[in-house]
Amino acid sequence: MNGEITETEKALVSAMEPIYLGIFEGIKAYVEGDILGSGKLNFIGWKPHIDRLWRSAAVNGLEISYTKEEMLEATRETIKANGFDTNVYIQPRVWPKAGTGRYLAREFHVVIPTWKFDTLLGKGNPRFGEERRFMVSSWRRIASDALPPQAKSWANYANSGLATREAARLGYNGALFLDNRGFVSEGTGACLMTVRNGRVITPPVTASILESVTRGYLIEFIPRDLGIPLEVRDITRVELYASDEAFLCGTGGEVTPITSVDDIKLGEEYPGPITVKIAEHYAEILAGNVEERRGWLTPV
Ligand code: PMP
Repeated sequence: MNGEITETEKALVSAMEPIYLGIFEGIKAYVEGDILGSGKLNFIGWKPHIDRLWRSAAVNGLEISYTKEEMLEATRETIKANGFDTNVYIQPRVWPKAGTGRYLAREFHVVIPTWKFDTLLGKGNPRFGEERRFMVSSWRRIASDALPPQAKSWANYANSGLATREAARLGYNGALFLDNRGFVSEGTGACLMTVRNGRVITPPVTASILESVTRGYLIEFIPRDLGIPLEVRDITRVELYASDEAFLCGTGGEVTPITSVDDIKLGEEYPGPITVKIAEHYAEILAGNVEERRGWLTPV
Protein backbone atom coordinates (compact mmCIF):
# COMPACT_ATOMS: atom_id res chain seq x y z
CA MET A 1 0.00 0.00 0.00
CA ASN A 2 1.46 3.35 -1.13
CA GLY A 3 4.93 1.87 -1.50
CA GLU A 4 5.00 -0.39 1.61
CA ILE A 5 4.24 -4.05 2.24
CA THR A 6 1.38 -3.78 4.73
CA GLU A 7 -0.80 -6.37 6.45
CA THR A 8 -4.44 -6.02 5.38
CA GLU A 9 -5.63 -5.16 8.91
CA LYS A 10 -3.06 -2.35 9.09
CA ALA A 11 -3.88 -0.88 5.65
CA LEU A 12 -5.99 1.85 7.24
CA VAL A 13 -7.46 4.93 5.58
CA SER A 14 -9.81 7.70 6.72
CA ALA A 15 -13.56 6.98 6.73
CA MET A 16 -13.85 10.12 4.58
CA GLU A 17 -11.92 8.67 1.61
CA PRO A 18 -13.67 9.28 -1.76
CA ILE A 19 -13.33 5.60 -2.67
CA TYR A 20 -16.31 5.83 -5.03
CA LEU A 21 -14.09 7.84 -7.39
CA GLY A 22 -11.62 4.97 -7.58
CA ILE A 23 -10.57 2.60 -10.31
CA PHE A 24 -9.09 -0.89 -10.20
CA GLU A 25 -7.87 -3.93 -12.12
CA GLY A 26 -8.36 -7.66 -11.71
CA ILE A 27 -5.29 -9.69 -12.70
CA LYS A 28 -4.36 -13.30 -12.13
CA ALA A 29 -1.18 -15.33 -11.87
CA TYR A 30 -1.26 -19.07 -12.57
CA VAL A 31 1.02 -21.89 -11.65
CA GLU A 32 3.10 -23.11 -14.56
CA GLY A 33 2.73 -26.66 -15.86
CA ASP A 34 -0.49 -27.61 -14.09
CA ILE A 35 -3.00 -24.94 -13.14
CA LEU A 36 -4.29 -27.10 -10.27
CA GLY A 37 -0.80 -27.85 -8.94
CA SER A 38 1.92 -25.66 -7.43
CA GLY A 39 5.28 -24.22 -8.51
CA LYS A 40 6.37 -21.23 -10.63
CA LEU A 41 3.79 -18.46 -11.17
CA ASN A 42 3.08 -16.39 -14.30
CA PHE A 43 0.79 -13.38 -14.70
CA ILE A 44 -1.66 -13.70 -17.59
CA GLY A 45 -2.08 -10.48 -19.56
CA TRP A 46 -0.01 -8.27 -17.27
CA LYS A 47 0.59 -5.64 -19.97
CA PRO A 48 -3.01 -5.21 -21.24
CA HIS A 49 -4.30 -5.15 -17.64
CA ILE A 50 -1.80 -2.52 -16.49
CA ASP A 51 -2.35 -0.47 -19.66
CA ARG A 52 -6.11 -0.56 -18.94
CA LEU A 53 -5.44 0.59 -15.34
CA TRP A 54 -3.57 3.61 -16.75
CA ARG A 55 -6.40 4.31 -19.23
CA SER A 56 -9.05 4.03 -16.50
CA ALA A 57 -6.98 6.47 -14.41
CA ALA A 58 -6.69 8.96 -17.28
CA VAL A 59 -10.44 8.88 -18.01
CA ASN A 60 -11.26 9.44 -14.33
CA GLY A 61 -8.67 12.17 -13.69
CA LEU A 62 -6.44 10.06 -11.45
CA GLU A 63 -2.66 9.94 -11.64
CA ILE A 64 -0.60 6.93 -10.64
CA SER A 65 2.63 8.15 -9.11
CA TYR A 66 4.53 4.97 -10.01
CA THR A 67 5.76 3.65 -13.33
CA LYS A 68 4.25 0.50 -14.84
CA GLU A 69 7.56 -1.26 -14.13
CA GLU A 70 7.34 -0.21 -10.45
CA MET A 71 3.79 -1.61 -10.31
CA LEU A 72 5.06 -4.93 -11.67
CA GLU A 73 7.88 -5.08 -9.13
CA ALA A 74 5.54 -4.08 -6.28
CA THR A 75 3.08 -6.81 -7.28
CA ARG A 76 5.85 -9.41 -7.44
CA GLU A 77 7.04 -8.35 -3.97
CA THR A 78 3.50 -8.51 -2.57
CA ILE A 79 2.97 -12.05 -3.88
CA LYS A 80 6.36 -13.12 -2.48
CA ALA A 81 5.66 -11.48 0.90
CA ASN A 82 2.45 -13.53 1.11
CA GLY A 83 4.36 -16.71 0.27
CA PHE A 84 1.77 -17.68 -2.37
CA ASP A 85 2.79 -20.71 -4.41
CA THR A 86 -0.63 -21.36 -5.94
CA ASN A 87 -2.95 -19.37 -8.24
CA VAL A 88 -3.24 -15.73 -7.17
CA TYR A 89 -5.72 -12.92 -7.84
CA ILE A 90 -4.34 -9.36 -7.78
CA GLN A 91 -6.59 -6.30 -7.58
CA PRO A 92 -4.66 -2.99 -7.85
CA ARG A 93 -6.81 -0.09 -6.64
CA VAL A 94 -6.29 3.66 -7.11
CA TRP A 95 -8.39 6.46 -5.60
CA PRO A 96 -8.00 10.12 -4.56
CA LYS A 97 -6.58 10.73 -1.08
CA ALA A 98 -9.10 12.38 1.24
CA GLY A 99 -8.56 16.11 1.57
CA THR A 100 -6.54 16.54 -1.63
CA GLY A 101 -9.30 17.90 -3.81
CA ARG A 102 -11.58 14.96 -4.76
CA TYR A 103 -12.62 15.63 -8.38
CA LEU A 104 -9.36 17.44 -9.19
CA ALA A 105 -7.32 15.54 -6.63
CA ARG A 106 -3.55 15.85 -6.44
CA GLU A 107 -2.67 12.75 -4.41
CA PHE A 108 -3.84 9.18 -4.80
CA HIS A 109 -3.70 5.90 -2.93
CA VAL A 110 -2.24 2.92 -4.79
CA VAL A 111 -2.95 -0.40 -3.12
CA ILE A 112 -2.28 -3.88 -4.50
CA PRO A 113 -4.29 -6.50 -2.58
CA THR A 114 -3.56 -10.13 -3.49
CA TRP A 115 -5.29 -13.35 -2.51
CA LYS A 116 -5.49 -17.00 -3.52
CA PHE A 117 -8.25 -18.35 -5.75
CA ASP A 118 -9.59 -21.67 -6.99
CA THR A 119 -9.85 -22.14 -10.73
CA LEU A 120 -12.90 -23.37 -12.67
CA LEU A 121 -10.61 -24.67 -15.41
CA GLY A 122 -8.53 -27.80 -15.77
CA LYS A 123 -9.69 -31.18 -17.04
CA GLY A 124 -12.13 -32.91 -14.74
CA ASN A 125 -12.74 -29.90 -12.47
CA PRO A 126 -16.30 -30.64 -11.22
CA ARG A 127 -17.12 -26.93 -10.72
CA PHE A 128 -16.77 -26.21 -14.45
CA GLY A 129 -19.95 -28.04 -15.46
CA GLU A 130 -22.16 -26.86 -12.59
CA GLU A 131 -25.64 -25.69 -13.59
CA ARG A 132 -25.81 -21.91 -14.12
CA ARG A 133 -29.24 -20.42 -14.76
CA PHE A 134 -28.98 -16.83 -15.99
CA MET A 135 -31.59 -14.14 -16.64
CA VAL A 136 -31.64 -11.04 -18.82
CA SER A 137 -31.60 -8.24 -16.28
CA SER A 138 -34.36 -5.67 -16.19
CA TRP A 139 -31.48 -3.19 -15.62
CA ARG A 140 -29.69 -1.97 -18.76
CA ARG A 141 -25.88 -1.84 -18.92
CA ILE A 142 -24.60 1.67 -18.23
CA ALA A 143 -24.35 3.66 -21.45
CA SER A 144 -20.84 4.67 -22.54
CA ASP A 145 -21.87 8.35 -22.69
CA ALA A 146 -23.04 8.23 -19.06
CA LEU A 147 -20.62 6.03 -17.10
CA PRO A 148 -18.17 4.45 -19.52
CA PRO A 149 -17.92 0.67 -19.03
CA GLN A 150 -14.55 0.78 -20.87
CA ALA A 151 -12.98 2.39 -17.78
CA LYS A 152 -12.85 -0.03 -14.85
CA SER A 153 -14.31 2.26 -12.17
CA TRP A 154 -15.81 1.02 -8.90
CA ALA A 155 -18.89 3.11 -9.69
CA ASN A 156 -19.66 0.83 -12.67
CA TYR A 157 -20.17 -2.05 -10.26
CA ALA A 158 -23.21 -0.37 -8.72
CA ASN A 159 -24.90 -1.22 -12.05
CA SER A 160 -23.61 -4.81 -11.77
CA GLY A 161 -24.82 -4.95 -8.17
CA LEU A 162 -28.38 -4.04 -9.15
CA ALA A 163 -28.49 -6.84 -11.71
CA THR A 164 -26.81 -9.39 -9.44
CA ARG A 165 -29.18 -8.69 -6.56
CA GLU A 166 -32.19 -8.90 -8.87
CA ALA A 167 -30.98 -12.28 -10.17
CA ALA A 168 -30.35 -13.60 -6.64
CA ARG A 169 -33.78 -12.43 -5.47
CA LEU A 170 -35.46 -14.23 -8.37
CA GLY A 171 -33.48 -17.43 -7.85
CA TYR A 172 -31.03 -17.18 -10.80
CA ASN A 173 -27.29 -17.73 -10.62
CA GLY A 174 -26.48 -14.59 -12.56
CA ALA A 175 -27.58 -11.84 -14.93
CA LEU A 176 -26.80 -10.68 -18.46
CA PHE A 177 -27.27 -7.08 -19.52
CA LEU A 178 -28.77 -5.59 -22.64
CA ASP A 179 -27.20 -2.28 -23.67
CA ASN A 180 -29.13 0.98 -24.00
CA ARG A 181 -29.99 0.06 -27.63
CA GLY A 182 -31.49 -3.26 -26.57
CA PHE A 183 -28.70 -5.51 -27.88
CA VAL A 184 -26.93 -8.07 -25.71
CA SER A 185 -24.06 -6.43 -23.81
CA GLU A 186 -22.15 -8.45 -21.16
CA GLY A 187 -22.42 -10.07 -17.75
CA THR A 188 -22.04 -8.27 -14.41
CA GLY A 189 -18.31 -9.03 -14.21
CA ALA A 190 -17.42 -10.82 -17.44
CA CYS A 191 -17.96 -10.63 -21.20
CA LEU A 192 -20.29 -12.95 -23.10
CA MET A 193 -19.72 -15.30 -26.00
CA THR A 194 -22.37 -17.44 -27.67
CA VAL A 195 -22.08 -20.37 -30.05
CA ARG A 196 -24.49 -20.88 -32.92
CA ASN A 197 -24.10 -23.37 -35.77
CA GLY A 198 -20.43 -23.90 -34.95
CA ARG A 199 -19.55 -20.17 -34.85
CA VAL A 200 -18.62 -18.17 -31.79
CA ILE A 201 -20.23 -14.72 -31.57
CA THR A 202 -19.40 -11.92 -29.13
CA PRO A 203 -20.78 -8.36 -28.85
CA PRO A 204 -18.59 -5.42 -29.98
CA VAL A 205 -16.96 -2.84 -27.70
CA THR A 206 -19.73 -0.42 -28.75
CA ALA A 207 -22.30 -2.64 -26.93
CA SER A 208 -21.27 -1.00 -23.60
CA ILE A 209 -18.83 -3.70 -22.57
CA LEU A 210 -15.56 -3.57 -20.69
CA GLU A 211 -12.74 -4.20 -23.17
CA SER A 212 -11.97 -7.50 -21.52
CA VAL A 213 -8.42 -8.82 -21.73
CA THR A 214 -9.74 -12.40 -21.72
CA ARG A 215 -12.21 -11.63 -24.52
CA GLY A 216 -9.30 -10.19 -26.53
CA TYR A 217 -7.25 -13.36 -26.07
CA LEU A 218 -10.23 -15.59 -26.96
CA ILE A 219 -10.94 -13.53 -30.11
CA GLU A 220 -7.35 -14.22 -31.11
CA PHE A 221 -6.98 -17.91 -30.24
CA ILE A 222 -10.43 -19.37 -31.04
CA PRO A 223 -10.05 -19.00 -34.83
CA ARG A 224 -6.25 -19.30 -34.98
CA ASP A 225 -5.50 -22.12 -32.52
CA LEU A 226 -8.79 -24.05 -32.69
CA GLY A 227 -9.98 -23.26 -36.22
CA ILE A 228 -13.43 -22.22 -34.93
CA PRO A 229 -14.89 -19.19 -36.77
CA LEU A 230 -15.60 -16.16 -34.57
CA GLU A 231 -17.66 -13.03 -35.24
CA VAL A 232 -17.69 -9.79 -33.28
CA ARG A 233 -21.15 -8.33 -33.80
CA ASP A 234 -24.37 -7.35 -32.06
CA ILE A 235 -26.53 -10.16 -30.69
CA THR A 236 -30.29 -9.79 -30.19
CA ARG A 237 -32.07 -11.15 -27.13
CA VAL A 238 -33.88 -13.82 -29.15
CA GLU A 239 -30.66 -14.84 -30.85
CA LEU A 240 -29.17 -15.34 -27.40
CA TYR A 241 -32.07 -17.68 -26.50
CA ALA A 242 -31.47 -19.57 -29.77
CA SER A 243 -27.77 -20.17 -29.01
CA ASP A 244 -26.42 -23.71 -28.92
CA GLU A 245 -24.00 -22.68 -26.16
CA ALA A 246 -23.08 -19.57 -24.20
CA PHE A 247 -20.31 -18.77 -21.76
CA LEU A 248 -18.85 -15.84 -19.87
CA CYS A 249 -15.19 -14.95 -20.16
CA GLY A 250 -13.11 -12.85 -17.82
CA THR A 251 -10.14 -12.94 -15.50
CA GLY A 252 -12.22 -13.86 -12.45
CA GLY A 253 -14.58 -16.46 -13.93
CA GLU A 254 -12.16 -17.54 -16.70
CA VAL A 255 -14.50 -19.49 -19.07
CA THR A 256 -17.86 -20.06 -17.33
CA PRO A 257 -20.59 -22.04 -19.15
CA ILE A 258 -24.22 -20.88 -18.93
CA THR A 259 -27.00 -23.52 -18.81
CA SER A 260 -30.06 -21.39 -19.59
CA VAL A 261 -31.20 -17.81 -20.08
CA ASP A 262 -34.63 -16.77 -18.75
CA ASP A 263 -35.30 -20.51 -18.20
CA ILE A 264 -34.74 -21.27 -21.89
CA LYS A 265 -32.21 -24.08 -22.05
CA LEU A 266 -29.35 -23.46 -24.49
CA GLY A 267 -28.55 -26.30 -26.89
CA GLU A 268 -28.60 -30.07 -26.45
CA GLU A 269 -25.49 -30.64 -24.40
CA TYR A 270 -24.19 -28.89 -21.27
CA PRO A 271 -21.47 -27.75 -21.03
CA GLY A 272 -21.38 -27.48 -24.83
CA PRO A 273 -18.55 -29.14 -26.79
CA ILE A 274 -17.15 -25.86 -28.20
CA THR A 275 -17.19 -24.22 -24.75
CA VAL A 276 -15.29 -27.21 -23.34
CA LYS A 277 -12.74 -27.08 -26.17
CA ILE A 278 -12.14 -23.35 -25.61
CA ALA A 279 -11.89 -23.75 -21.81
CA GLU A 280 -9.44 -26.63 -22.07
CA HIS A 281 -7.22 -24.79 -24.53
CA TYR A 282 -7.30 -21.65 -22.38
CA ALA A 283 -6.29 -23.74 -19.34
CA GLU A 284 -3.26 -24.97 -21.31
CA ILE A 285 -2.37 -21.37 -22.27
CA LEU A 286 -2.63 -20.25 -18.62
CA ALA A 287 -0.41 -23.14 -17.54
CA GLY A 288 2.22 -22.06 -20.08
CA ASN A 289 1.83 -25.24 -22.13
CA VAL A 290 1.05 -23.50 -25.45
CA GLU A 291 4.37 -22.33 -26.83
CA GLU A 292 3.03 -19.71 -29.27
CA ARG A 293 0.93 -18.10 -26.48
CA ARG A 294 3.70 -17.87 -23.90
CA GLY A 295 4.06 -14.19 -24.83
CA TRP A 296 0.79 -13.55 -22.92
CA LEU A 297 2.51 -14.66 -19.70
CA THR A 298 4.91 -12.64 -17.51
CA PRO A 299 6.91 -14.42 -14.81
CA VAL A 300 6.08 -13.45 -11.21
N1 PMP B 1 -16.80 -7.14 -17.98
C1 PMP B 1 -16.86 -6.69 -16.71
C2 PMP B 1 -17.98 -5.83 -16.31
C3 PMP B 1 -15.86 -7.08 -15.79
O1 PMP B 1 -15.92 -6.65 -14.52
C4 PMP B 1 -14.82 -7.92 -16.21
C5 PMP B 1 -13.76 -8.33 -15.24
N2 PMP B 1 -12.68 -7.44 -15.26
C6 PMP B 1 -14.81 -8.36 -17.54
C7 PMP B 1 -15.81 -7.95 -18.40
C8 PMP B 1 -13.73 -9.24 -18.04
O2 PMP B 1 -12.57 -8.50 -18.26
P1 PMP B 1 -11.13 -9.15 -18.16
O3 PMP B 1 -11.10 -10.28 -19.10
O4 PMP B 1 -10.20 -8.07 -18.56
O5 PMP B 1 -10.96 -9.60 -16.75
